Amino acid sequence: IKNNNPFKKLNDEIFVYVAKKQKEIDELKRLEQFRREFLADVSHELKTPIFAAQGFIHTLIDGAVDDEFVRDKFLAKAARSLDGLDALVKDLVALSQLETGEIRMHLERVDIYQITLEIFEQLENIAEAKGITLRIKSSLQRSDVIRADVARLGAARPDAARTDLQGPVWVMADPQRITQVMTNLIENGIKYGNDAGKVVVSFADDKKHISISVRDDGPGIAPEHLSRIFERFYRVEKSRSKERGGTGLGLAIVKHILNAHKSKITVMSKPDKGTMFRFKLEKAVETEL
Ligand code: ADP
Repeated sequence: IKNNNPFKKLNDEIFVYVAKKQKEIDELKRLEQFRREFLADVSHELKTPIFAAQGFIHTLIDGAVDDEFVRDKFLAKAARSLDGLDALVKDLVALSQLETGEIRMHLERVDIYQITLEIFEQLENIAEAKGITLRIKSSLQRSDVIRADVARLGAARPDAARTDLQGPVWVMADPQRITQVMTNLIENGIKYGNDAGKVVVSFADDKKHISISVRDDGPGIAPEHLSRIFERFYRVEKSRSKERGGTGLGLAIVKHILNAHKSKITVMSKPDKGTMFRFKLEKAVETEL
């Protein structure tokens, strides 16, 4: 009787249908909740630089403009706030596109070693201002890696003194996005690292992957904050992060980009010893040798 019951089949179908619809409703609710929270966070974050710039400009209009010293100071401060706003809007656009899956990754064969050197060059000034040394280290197993004679190359090429390895290191990645990941991590190392410290990018490998780590010897991150630093707008010390030009979105963007590369980032940190971020990318086969 059981098997021939025509209502049983219908009942099962209805049950499956209802469960499916319920899942869709839950997903919509989750998205709606996310959207509401995101909007609240964003408007809060946007207000800060806007209010600051407005304050300086209105004070100038109200007469402060006549004092040359105050004028220059306030104009510089207003410009800084607007630069912060610009960085925030750029990060927000990137993050929202990543979160909604709008950005497609274009995976290709990229030389992560070269990308790192280029980022070092771009961040040279802010590193130098803090007396921070930027280095590349390698523990690659590959036989084709030519170890640079640091002293010899150091004399010929200033770059080479920074590295115990000559590239390339080929990985499969979206070049633009992986540049953003590396920039955010290296920049954080410089921003939050100690004066006269070091930021070191290391490459290691196994059969299929290149493991990339970025570490500093700065003050580190306390364990209670460690699991939260990848959340958008989460900052360990709000004022210190903002003062250093942070948007609070850097690591959230890093996490999403790596996610889209099917990679996960891990962080290890010891107070007063430093912080290390690490992730893996798929090796790209070397075709030209
Ligand atoms: P921000 O724009 O504020 O730098 P991030 O998302 O890049 O935002 O980082 C989130 C927070 O994690 C930072 O505000 C900072 O408190 C902490 N943090 C990130 N990287 C480091 C690091 N290398 N050393 C110490 N703290 C760090």
